Amino acid sequence: MSDLLLFWHRRDLRISDNVGLAAARERSPHVMGVFCLDPHILERDDVAAVRVAYMLGCLKALEQDYAKAGSQLLILQDDPAKALPELATAIGAAAVYWNKDVEPYGRSRDRTVADALKQAGIEYSAHWDQLLHHPQEISTNSGDPYKVYSPFWKNWSDKPKAEAVATFKNAQALSNSGKAAAKKAGAIALPSLSDLGFAWDNGFLLEPGTEAARDQLDAFCDRALADYDEQRNLPFIDGTSRLSAAHKLGAIGIREVWAATAATERQTRSDEARNGIRVWRQELAWREFYQHVMFHFPELADGPYRDTFKDFPWENNEQHFQSWCEGRTGYPIVDAAMRQLNEIGWMHNRCRMIVASFLTKDLIIDWRWGERYFMQHLFDGDLSANNGGWQWSASSGMDPKPLRIFNPASQAQKFDADGEYIRRWLPELRSLDTAMLVTGAIDSGDRRTSDYPEPIVDHKKRQAQFKQLYANQKKQG
Ligand SMILES: Cc1cc2nc3c(=O)[nH]c(=O)nc-3n(C[C@H](O)[C@H](O)[C@H](O)COP(=O)(O)OP(=O)(O)OC[C@H]3O[C@@H](n4cnc5c(N)ncnc54)[C@H](O)[C@@H]3O)c2cc1C
Repeated sequence: MSDLLLFWHRRDLRISDNVGLAAARERSPHVMGVFCLDPHILERDDVAAVRVAYMLGCLKALEQDYAKAGSQLLILQDDPAKALPELATAIGAAAVYWNKDVEPYGRSRDRTVADALKQAGIEYSAHWDQLLHHPQEISTNSGDPYKVYSPFWKNWSDKPKAEAVATFKNAQALSNSGKAAAKKAGAIALPSLSDLGFAWDNGFLLEPGTEAARDQLDAFCDRALADYDEQRNLPFIDGTSRLSAAHKLGAIGIREVWAATAATERQTRSDEARNGIRVWRQELAWREFYQHVMFHFPELADGPYRDTFKDFPWENNEQHFQSWCEGRTGYPIVDAAMRQLNEIGWMHNRCRMIVASFLTKDLIIDWRWGERYFMQHLFDGDLSANNGGWQWSASSGMDPKPLRIFNPASQAQKFDADGEYIRRWLPELRSLDTAMLVTGAIDSGDRRTSDYPEPIVDHKKRQAQFKQLYANQKKQG
C-alpha cells in the first residue's frame, strides 16, 4: 500500500502546531500539503479583498515552509469534492488528512468530500485543531452546550490546555512522475490576487505567514499583554494583539499562542499583569465560545437566536445604511470607526460594538446588513466571531442582557476622551475642539466648512423608538 498522504489545509495555513498535519507526518514522511481555492467560498458576495490577499500571502509562506521541510504544497482551484479525490487518485495517495471546522458550509463540504474519497477507495482522517477545546469537550453538567459565556469561561478556563504539537519536518516530496500526475489532475501555480478577481493596495495590519504572526505575538506578550485590561478598550492605542486574521486562517497554532501567555505569566510579578493575561485569555475563550455555539446551533448563521427578533420591524432605510457604510452619519466616533474599516480592513473591538449598536438601535437596520458589510471588508472576517458580535450588539443572540444600547457620545467620552482616534480617521475634523469631537456637538457652521454631515438621526429619539418597537415585539411574542 502507498505511504503517500495528502494534508488538506483550509483555515490552518501553517506547518507548526498543526494537529492533523502532525498526525499525517507520524504515519509517513511522504506527506504533501494541498489547498483548494474553492469557488463556493471565493464567489460569495461577502468576501473581503484584504482577506483573500492575506490568505494568498499565507499560502506563499506555506509553500516555502513545505519546501524547507522537504515536501511541497499543491494548489487546486475547483470544487474540493471533485478535485481532491481526482488528485489523490492521480498521485496514488492512500489517505487525505484535514482539521475539522465548525461552520455549516465547512461541515457539509467535509461530509461530501469524505463520501467522494470513500467512493474512490481513499481513506480520510479528520482532527480537531483550531480550538483549545473542541465543541464536544465543553458542556454543562447535564451534557448540553453552553448558551451563556460566563459559565462557559469558568469551565473552559479550568480545563488543562494541550501543548503545541511537533512541527512538520524531514518529509519527502513527490517524484517527477508524481508531480506530472498532480499537474494533470489539476494542480496549478498559486494565482495572484488579480487572477482571482480581487484588488487590495492598502497593506496589512499583520503581514501574512507564521513568522510574522509569531513576531507579533512575541511583541504583544513583551509590550502590551500585561496592560491589556487597561488598554484594550482604547482604540487610539496599539493595546490589543491584532492577531485576529492569523487566528482566522490559522497562521499560528492556538496551543502555541496559549503557551506564550503561560510563559509570560511565569515571568510576571504583579497582580495587574496577571490580570491582563487573564482578560486576554477571556478573549480567546470568546472566540471558542462563538465557534462552539456555531457548531451546536448552526441556525445562528441564518438568523436571530431570540424569538423577539424573528420578525422584527427593521426600518432598513437604504440611505441611512449607505451613510453608515461610508462613515458619514454625522456621529464622529461612528464615522471614524467605519473609515478605519474601509481603509485598513480592521476595526478596533470597542468601535465594532459602537457601530453595530448604532446600526441596529439608532438606524433600526437589520443586523444582518451590518454583518454582511463587515464580512465584505474585514481582514479577520469570520462567520462565528462576526455573527456572535453582531447578535450580541443587536441583542438578538445568546447574551443574557435583554437590551444593550450604546450612546455614541458617552462611548467616545469614555474611550477616546482626547479625540485622538476621531482625529486620526476623520482628518476633516482635526482642528475642532476635543469636546465637540467626542460629544458630537458640532455646530452647523463647522460642519459646513469641514464638509461633515449633520447627524442623520437623533440618538435620544431613536433610542426611545427602538425600545418601543422592542416592547411591542415582546408583547406579541
Ligand atoms: C460586531 C462585531 C463583529 C466582529 N467580527 C469579528 C470577526 O469577523 N472576526 C473576528 O476575529 N473577530 C470579530 N469580532 C471580535 C473582535 O472585535 C476582534 O476579534 C478583535 O477586535 C480583533 O483584534 P485583536 O486581534 O487585536 O484582538 P485581541 O483583543 O488581541 O483578542 C485576541 C483574540 O481573541 C479573539 N477575540 C477577541 N475578541 C473576540 C470576540 N469578541 N469574539 C470572538 N473572538 C474574539 C480574536 O481571535 C483575537 O485575535 C467582532 C466583534 C464585534 C462586536
